[in-house]
Amino acid sequence: MLARLYSRSYTLSFKFVRPSLRSTIQAPTRSMTAPGAAAPSSNEQAVAALQPNQLFKFFAQLSDIPRPSKQEDRVLSWLKDCAKARNLETKQDKVGNLVIRRPGSGGGEQAPTVVIQGHVDMVCEKNKDTAHDFTKDPIRLVVKGDWLHAQGTTLGADNGIGVCTALALLDSPPTAKLPPLECLFTVDEETGLTGAFGISPDLLEGRTMLNLDTEDWGEIFIGCAGGGDNQLQLTMPMEDIGEGVASSSSQFVVNVGGLLGGHSGLMIAEGRGNALIILVRALRRMQAASAVRVCSLSGGDKRNALPREAQAAVVVPDADVPAIQQAIAQTVEELRVEYGLLEKVGAVCLRHPRHAWANKQM
Ligand SMILES: [Zn+2]
Repeated sequence: MLARLYSRSYTLSFKFVRPSLRSTIQAPTRSMTAPGAAAPSSNEQAVAALQPNQLFKFFAQLSDIPRPSKQEDRVLSWLKDCAKARNLETKQDKVGNLVIRRPGSGGGEQAPTVVIQGHVDMVCEKNKDTAHDFTKDPIRLVVKGDWLHAQGTTLGADNGIGVCTALALLDSPPTAKLPPLECLFTVDEETGLTGAFGISPDLLEGRTMLNLDTEDWGEIFIGCAGGGDNQLQLTMPMEDIGEGVASSSSQFVVNVGGLLGGHSGLMIAEGRGNALIILVRALRRMQAASAVRVCSLSGGDKRNALPREAQAAVVVPDADVPAIQQAIAQTVEELRVEYGLLEKVGAVCLRHPRHAWANKQM
C-alpha cells in the first residue's frame, strides 16, 4: 500500500535466498496444510527445497488458489481453514477483510498487539502465448537459479509473500516469543484498495501495524506522504505594452536552470530547489526595482517532479537595466547562501541577445 503511492507494478519473480528474511521467520514445527490437500501439489514440490521452508510451503498452497481481485472467496476460506486447524480466532468484516488472531507467546503475552497486514488478491497478467484462466487455474511455480518464477503468468508475490509471512508467523511454535498478533488479510487491493478503504473500525484491536505489501527490500517505512493533484486556473490581466514603452524598453528572458530536480514525493525533504519558486522570487525582486512586465512564464514538466527549469519573458525599461542586473545579482547571492553546495549547478540568469553582461551564473 505504501509503495503504491509512488508506483504501480506487479511482481513477476521473487528472489528467495534472503538471509534477513530467513532470520525473521521462526522455524516451523508442524504443518498447516489445508484440509483435503493430502499429497503435496506440484507447486509444493517445486518449492520443497526453499528456505524458509514453511513460508514457501504456504506460498505454494496459496499459488494453487486462483485469487484475482474481487474473487477472493476461495483464498479467504483457505485462510479460515488454516486458522481453524490451529484453533485460532477469526473475524471478518462486511467487505471481506479477514483477521486471524494469535495470542502472545513465549513471554510476549503482555506485549501490545501487532497487526500484520497483507492483501490476498493479485495482479493477473499472462504472456500472450500462455493459456491460463486466472479464475480457475493455479499459478505454476518454477525455480530458476536463485529466483522463484511463475510459468507465463504473474507470480502473485505481491502480496502473496506478505500473506504467507503472516501465516508462517501464525504457525510459529507455541514457545516462540511473539506479541499477540492480528494477521489482517485485506481484499481487492489491486483494483482500488476497496478492502482497505472499507475496513470495519471494530475489526482490529492492535494499534501498531506492519504492512507487508512493499516493493523495497530491507526497508521499513514509518510514514508516508499522501498524493493529491491540484489544478489551478488563474485568469491573468493582460495589457498592451503600448508604443511608448516598447520603444524605450528591451525584452529579456529570465532563466532558471541546472537544478537537481527529482521526485517531488521522494526528494521533497532534501531541500532541493524548485525552479518555479526561484524564478518567482527573482521576478518579485526585479519588480520591486523597476516596472518590469512579465510576458510569459513557464517551467516544470511533470506533476510529480521538482521543476528543474523555468523561464519568464520580461520587458524592462532601458533606464532600469542596471537595477535589474542588481536585482538578479542579489537573488543569486541569496540562493547561494540558502542552497550552499546542494544546488551548486543551479543558475539564474538574464538573457538578451544584445547584452553580453546579462549572463550571471549562480
Ligand atoms: Zn500489493
